[in-house]
Amino acid sequence: MKSVDEYLPIVGEKVIANIYKKAYRLVNKHILHINSTGLGGGVAEILNNLVLLMNDVGIDTGWRVLLGTSDFFSVTKKFHNALQGASINLSLNKKNLYLDLNDRFSRFNHLDHDCVIVHDPQPLPLIKFYRKKQPWIWRCHIDISKPNKEIWSYIKPFILRYDMMIISSQRFRKKDLFLEQRIIHPSIDPLSPKNMEISDDIISKIFKKFAIPTDKPLITQVSRFDPWKDPEGVLKVFETVKEKIDCRLVYCYNMPPDDPEGFAIYSKIERRAKKHLAKGDVLFILGDNQILVNALQRKSSVILQKSIREGFGLTLTEAQWKQTPVVASNIGGIPEQVINNKTGFLVEPDDIVGWAERVITLLKDKKLAQEMGSNGKKFIKDNFLITRHLLDYLTLMLDLSDRY
Ligand code: UDP
Repeated sequence: MKSVDEYLPIVGEKVIANIYKKAYRLVNKHILHINSTGLGGGVAEILNNLVLLMNDVGIDTGWRVLLGTSDFFSVTKKFHNALQGASINLSLNKKNLYLDLNDRFSRFNHLDHDCVIVHDPQPLPLIKFYRKKQPWIWRCHIDISKPNKEIWSYIKPFILRYDMMIISSQRFRKKDLFLEQRIIHPSIDPLSPKNMEISDDIISKIFKKFAIPTDKPLITQVSRFDPWKDPEGVLKVFETVKEKIDCRLVYCYNMPPDDPEGFAIYSKIERRAKKHLAKGDVLFILGDNQILVNALQRKSSVILQKSIREGFGLTLTEAQWKQTPVVASNIGGIPEQVINNKTGFLVEPDDIVGWAERVITLLKDKKLAQEMGSNGKKFIKDNFLITRHLLDYLTLMLDLSDRY
């Protein structure tokens, strides 16, 4: 079972000693995380690793997943979109569906924990259905810099019941919210199957198994099919690059149950990419296998993240850890994740020519790509590994136990 000790060779003694120093004061505390999916997407990725480490250091940490229906997830995806700035028809029906499912969940989930951490908008109103006996934290992973006003006014009364909101970037701080707001950057687990070191031999075997050709350079985006990840823009960038350099585009995608938009967007992109698909120059690869994602992130010449909104794109952190240079949108939390010109390139999302130029530079200039790759690994090691994330949570819990 996962143990903090295993990270010693990667992060060094000081970090591990600091974790133990903080953790012993929290031993036997009982903490609960609640989110809306156990698999797929960044939140599930983080919880799958972090919850185990919190238990390892002596904090009884639970994780419950909201049991949503497809109607519920279709409503909450609209809320998610509106919180990232899309318009919404905020009908009574949607509000009722949202509240009723949370109410139902609260009836059979009895909470006697010392602290409850609720992730993202789906389980946000749960707090309304409990007699609050402990601090509750809302951990918002999405880009709420410019929310639709109607949805923001609707969800604000739920947020105000919490003791604190955690966000991923300074840019998401809300001036019009009377609540403590703390920034905690997400992280990746360097020892998980997705991020651990794998040999060239394993990579070759995986590429063979999944029939991924390697005769041309690969440009890859690892993402859900979500409008905010701009898969159509990714295709435009690829088409512009391909005018100058022969290469392949890989869409490595998954379909988490709490995001019902994926299938329709997949079909749309498949239609748009028809001629490239026929030639085998665009590949759609189902990335439900962690080692496959690991191999793709290592073997691709460039990893793209062409998001229009992004709280914090874990995929960028994963790629940089693997010494693969990235080209990413200069929006949301991403500028805190990539050092422009040092670990990759930041480009405005609409500047397709600019995107293509950066990708071409990285495909042509192997030395630069390698240099950015090694800068990237160091940057991630110093800032975005799970041990730093665990320390941030321990600090938060200690602050709370001093207060309550
Ligand atoms: N992911 C995956 N397979 C895929 C697509 C995505 O395992 O085919 C993972 C990806 O590696 C990352 C997470 O899903 O760990 C996506 O997190 P991110 O923060 O980039 O985006 P989110 O989906 O949370 O908006």
